[in-house]
Amino acid sequence: MSDMKRLVLLGPPGAGKGTQAAMIADHFCVPRISTGDILRNAVREGTALGQQARAHMNRGELLPDSLMMEIVEERLKLPDCKNGFVLDGLPRTVIQAKELEKIVNIDIVVAIDVGEEEVVRRLAGRRLCPICEAGYHVEFKPPRQAEICDRCGTPLKQRDDDQEGVIRNRLKTYREWTAPLLEYYKRKSILRVIDGKGKVEEVFRRIVSLDLQKR
Ligand code: ADP
Ligand code: ADP
Ligand code: ZN
Repeated sequence: MSDMKRLVLLGPPGAGKGTQAAMIADHFCVPRISTGDILRNAVREGTALGQQARAHMNRGELLPDSLMMEIVEERLKLPDCKNGFVLDGLPRTVIQAKELEKIVNIDIVVAIDVGEEEVVRRLAGRRLCPICEAGYHVEFKPPRQAEICDRCGTPLKQRDDDQEGVIRNRLKTYREWTAPLLEYYKRKSILRVIDGKGKVEEVFRRIVSLDLQKR
């Protein structure tokens, strides 16, 4: 199979970025790079990064741009990125977008368009396996056995930042810092906006119907 484009997923918290990123990564055999997962791992392992990250995350605020760019630059250097990748969670500011361009050429930015009401419903019911990172939703994607991971049997968790107050802050942070990226990438003519409503599989079909093959 030929390479996949270097893809960035954009969208508000809860839009379905992680869900779709995992499906795209499987479908095209490319890595999914999730800055949120990298940070949550660091929090779980109690590293210095994790200690810094936790405070920001639990307030629904962004970590410093320079720190995030260091993390992602290291990751993009690994050889598995050479046939394409899905980047989920970065860039989140125009400064990050500009810095990212210095590291790697992004071919396409897919923005998942979902209204705020729906996003709040998705976030409020989100569950995560703390071990294998599989994602669930109590209503829209329930595990076979309530609150247990299908893949590894671990009790599921709610993310610390999926509490109502923090959700509101994350949406505010998104509007203020990340939404301007839509205009930024539109001007560069690499933005594709897809409708994020409907079933996970329908949204996925909309994404793969974009031309994601690199030639
Ligand atoms: P993001 O990474 O953008 O924050 P997630 O992929 O974690 O979003 O999805 C948020 C929650 O919504 C998860 O619980 C996920 O299972 C659920 N979800 C994702 N896509 C859909 C969809 N199309 N319809 C209903 N629920 C969805
Ligand atoms: P969501 O799935 O809700 O979109 P993520 O899992 O991508 O959220 O990110 C969780 C948190 O990690 C963010 O609220 C933020 O505090 C931090 N974070 C992740 N990526 C970045 C980034 N590129 N820049 C700054 N902070 C980030
Ligand atoms: Zn699991």
